[in-house]
Amino acid sequence: MRLILMGPPGAGKGTQASRVAEQFGIPAISTGDIFRENVSKGTELGVKAGEYMDAGEYVPDDLTNLMVRNRIDEDDATPGFLLDGYPRTLAQVEELDGMIKFTGHQLDAVVVLTVDPEELVQRLLQRAETDGRSDDTEDVVRRRQEVYAEQTEPLIDVYRDRGLLHEVDGMGEVDEVTKRIFAALSDVDPS
Ligand code: ADP
Repeated sequence: MRLILMGPPGAGKGTQASRVAEQFGIPAISTGDIFRENVSKGTELGVKAGEYMDAGEYVPDDLTNLMVRNRIDEDDATPGFLLDGYPRTLAQVEELDGMIKFTGHQLDAVVVLTVDPEELVQRLLQRAETDGRSDDTEDVVRRRQEVYAEQTEPLIDVYRDRGLLHEVDGMGEVDEVTKRIFAALSDVDPS
């Protein structure tokens, strides 16, 4: 099963990604988490990516694509994977198409979580207090929403045109949202 979970910052992708991945027995691959791990270890990738992340901007495509390519080449991703936070640009969509095609598989479904914009900012500011992520300050939170709207929202139409899109209401209880995602994916036959 090869899945993408999309949604604006604060939509709850990370939480849902682990649940969905567990259900299908595939790894959840979060580009944000991999970048943060590299930042905390002080790797070369982390040093480069950290500057963009703290400004609320996307990390350049070449760095991001290479990182994802290496990750999905790992053994645990042979049966499939759920991508959380990738692709986020049209160039990344193309790159991912190439990676999947190379393995002889297909993308099975794209789930997009929809959440009311004001609710998103409130959730992220709340998270800033509990988790202390360096990119959860109000200015950066707003910038991340803008970047999402400009660069990532157009991907929704691309996947809708391919017949892969499942829009899921991301408002309400976490368990409720998980149930909605499972229901949306119940008719998907993995390639
Ligand atoms: P959120 O979706 O809440 O903003 P993430 O943890 O998914 O948080 O991502 C944090 C940051 O990591 C992004 O703001 C961006 O700088 C970087 N990042 C994550 N995924 C990508 C990607 N696919 N392309 C470019 N940058 C990315």
